[in-house]
Amino acid sequence: MAAAQSTFPLRPQEPILCPVCGGENDHDAVFCSCGKSLGDFKYVLEELRAETKWYESLASRVARFIGQPAYIIVHIVLVILWIILNTGALAGIDIFDQYPYSLLGLVLGIEAVFITGFLLIDDGREDAHANKLAELDYEVNVRTYRRLEDIDAKLEWIMTRLDRPDRLNDA
Ligand SMILES: [Zn+2]
Repeated sequence: MAAAQSTFPLRPQEPILCPVCGGENDHDAVFCSCGKSLGDFKYVLEELRAETKWYESLASRVARFIGQPAYIIVHIVLVILWIILNTGALAGIDIFDQYPYSLLGLVLGIEAVFITGFLLIDDGREDAHANKLAELDYEVNVRTYRRLEDIDAKLEWIMTRLDRPDRLNDA
């Protein structure tokens, strides 16, 4: 029995060579130390990273910053400072934007235009990410299904050879 187990055709337990750096990895490694994915399937994040253009990485950095409380705090501080500077209460500083602070409105308006653009770019990237993930899910499902059908057919064949076709549908 022990001999039969040792010759059972399992997946080869050989080290996996990294296609990028050529480094040797454990037979069950998922990532190489250089960061390359070692799976039999495409790795969505790796593909996306390779396709990322400079404005897309800028957009995702901006979107990440906007999503933090620091963004709100910085704006509250800047607006309060702007209003204080334009009260004329501080000696040596001339009023440069009188109430109702139209210059401040213009600056914030321009900022809003840029931020909307960045957020839309980042949104598009997240859509692309979700689409790729869905595509990969589909691929894995199709391959798994085909593999299962193969295994099913082989099992049926084995059962027929063992003269026990009735046992196959019991499980
Ligand atoms: Zn590597």
